[in-house]
Amino acid sequence: MAKLEEPPVEEVQLEWDTPLFRTALAQFEQAIPYADVNESIVARLASPERAVMVAVPIRRDAGHVEVFPAYRVQHSSVLGPTKGGLRYDPHVTLGECAALAVWMTWKCALLRLPYGGAKGGIRCNPRALSLPELQRLTRRYTSELRGVIGPQEDIPAPDMATNEQTMAWIMDTYSMQVGYAVPEIVTGKPVSLGGSLFRSEATGAGVVMVVERACERLGWNLAEQRCVVQGFGNVGGIAAQELVGKGATVLAVSDFSGGVYSERGLDLTAVRAWIAEHATLEGYPDAENVTNAELLELPCDILVLAALEGQVTGENAARIDAKVVVEGANGPTTIEGDAILGERGILILPDVLTNAGGVTVSYFEWVQDLGRLFWTRNEIRARLADKLNDAFDRVWTLAEKQGISLRQAALVAGINEVAAALKARGIYP
Ligand code: GLU
Repeated sequence: MAKLEEPPVEEVQLEWDTPLFRTALAQFEQAIPYADVNESIVARLASPERAVMVAVPIRRDAGHVEVFPAYRVQHSSVLGPTKGGLRYDPHVTLGECAALAVWMTWKCALLRLPYGGAKGGIRCNPRALSLPELQRLTRRYTSELRGVIGPQEDIPAPDMATNEQTMAWIMDTYSMQVGYAVPEIVTGKPVSLGGSLFRSEATGAGVVMVVERACERLGWNLAEQRCVVQGFGNVGGIAAQELVGKGATVLAVSDFSGGVYSERGLDLTAVRAWIAEHATLEGYPDAENVTNAELLELPCDILVLAALEGQVTGENAARIDAKVVVEGANGPTTIEGDAILGERGILILPDVLTNAGGVTVSYFEWVQDLGRLFWTRNEIRARLADKLNDAFDRVWTLAEKQGISLRQAALVAGINEVAAALKARGIYP
């Protein structure tokens, strides 16, 4: 039998080296000339500290066993435990988790949270799994990662297709294994288990707090703006509602099935009622149907991207007809898309700043859990606005001072926080 030839090691890419990871790395490289870093710091931060891959078996309802690839990537533990979501999606890869973990590092550092970045995922189609199957998958994944996650090591949270219930299963599995209740192992859990008030709305509400601050700086009245929102989940759905709450008009929204558009503005209460009944936007009667691709090109003032990564690209960026692009999702604009929007003078409110409301209230949740003392909703909302406004102002000032984009400024601000800590700590031993 012929011997299987392995390619020489120098021809094998690093396991996390995928297009999305390269996007994260390219953004890092664009920020480096403006950041206070040296070569060793750059080398250290260009790779995740730890990337774990596990195979998770579960018994399907039909009786057979299926095995799912799953990941957890921790990018930097310089400032504290690593922090980041867990997503269930058919396209999850180690590289995607690594890219998202890098962004979490800059996001946490920019917001001055004592965390580094992490991200996890299970490659599965969550829509094809029953609730008991999702429960078995979550519990077994948690068990496989027992030595990797922990309240002082790495704290998961919801991300795409995971929610409060997922976090409750993780908390229970971990707690059963250590022998006592450990609410601080996850954030984004139900309030009845030590979850924080306002956590479920925090990402979407935070997006609109950042938009509001940007409007103030631009001298715009938010109530006069016409908005398009891609995505109607936990981020886009809440952001759309908050925009309407501020008097703005939401012309279009979309979910995985496509979008709906009304030039006069949508009645979001009716849209939500339709989704509650049909589980999808598809068929919603009082509006025009558009595809997700068409939705991105609708004329508007503010385009909120709150769905997936890689939506505005070199291919469609020239046709985006908005004045401001708001990144509610992580990595929704590719490097090429970003350059084209920049040349066209379209302002981008970058993901690491704009969607940081979620992880900020996650931090508040963790602090409340560790202190066993819980805050009111108003207190949390006010503290979130303070943190986001402070980060926004630092980013805006840095961008003006250095003549760079808001994305570069947000990354520079985040990178400088991590670099200063890394410099002070040094490389062990
Ligand atoms: N998955 C969210 C994010 O990408 C939240 C992470 C967290 O709360 O830890 O920011």
